Amino acid sequence: MKKNDRKTASSNSGEQQNLTAGAYVEGILWGDRVMLGRAITLVESNRPEHRPLAQEVLEKCLPHTGRSLRVGITGAPGVGKSSFIETLGTYLVREQGRRLAVLAIDPTSSVSRGSILGDKTRMEKLTTEPDAFIRPSPAGDSLGGVAASTRESMLLCEAAGFDTIFIETVGVGQSETTVAGMVDFFLLLLLPGAGDELQGIKRGIVEMADLLAINKTDGDRIPLAKAARQDYAQALHLFPAKTNGWQPKVVTCSALTGDGIAEIWKLLVDYQRLTTESGWFSQHRREQMKRWLHEQLEAELRHRFFQKKGIREKLADMELAVASGEISVSKALSELIKN
Ligand code: GDP
Repeated sequence: MKKNDRKTASSNSGEQQNLTAGAYVEGILWGDRVMLGRAITLVESNRPEHRPLAQEVLEKCLPHTGRSLRVGITGAPGVGKSSFIETLGTYLVREQGRRLAVLAIDPTSSVSRGSILGDKTRMEKLTTEPDAFIRPSPAGDSLGGVAASTRESMLLCEAAGFDTIFIETVGVGQSETTVAGMVDFFLLLLLPGAGDELQGIKRGIVEMADLLAINKTDGDRIPLAKAARQDYAQALHLFPAKTNGWQPKVVTCSALTGDGIAEIWKLLVDYQRLTTESGWFSQHRREQMKRWLHEQLEAELRHRFFQKKGIREKLADMELAVASGEISVSKALSELIKN
């Protein structure tokens, strides 16, 4: 366990000792943000003794979850994700009467603790809005662990009455796929005037997106952004159509001026209506839940395997034995998984 974890975990345990699952749930359903924050800290805790209580809280909240629009937002560092969320989020809570929770998955925070998403002053306006709740990325040792607690936090936020959930991630690795697996709609932010390779965006990510938004379409960049929009629109036509009947779109926007922001929201609402009417929306969520169960099961089995005493040394021995042809892979496997 790294130093930071220990600090969080020990301060958690003191704070959580006195609360019952019922107290957490009552507070959450009441919309008590402090209680919501504490419940999220509980589900983020990696201390095994916190799990039963966390599970009980989640279980009791479950009937109150699911009634939100879950949106994943990704893009390279500096593309304007936090500015975009600030501008769109403020519009949503002030002008659309929405209640918004913003969660983040930051793969860098688990490796270096030098978080890309968390170490700047972000979303200052949104932070002060009573109908917005912003929670930074949890610390964790693996993307899987961080994703698990983000998914659970999302459910808690829904139970607390948030009807719109944004999950932000940095477009630099595996985390986009993880986020796409837990949201209804996936939005990729791009910069005007640079190809996606230059922006560090992998082709697969563009294919996953339901909407490409070219941010920073303001000032001198407007002509560049318009050209980029055409290029991307053409590129999207080369991809196979989505099974849900939605045609991914390319739009331009500016988090700075607010141009294009309301139009983006309208597209999200259209998307939700279209996919709800066709039944795809809930079908997709059911599929996500099943996949989630499988992923969690695999993670748990792996975890249990590596918990076994001396298993890493034994694995290293088996690697050598297999590599040198001393024993077969099949035999090594039996040796490793027997109790
Ligand atoms: P993130 O790393 O993707 O979260 O990006 P930030 O939101 O921190 O933005 C990076 C920089 O781009 C900041 O200096 C922002 O002020 C600036 N920025 C973000 N959105 C826009 C925009 O729409 N137009 C312009 N001109 N600058 C922007």
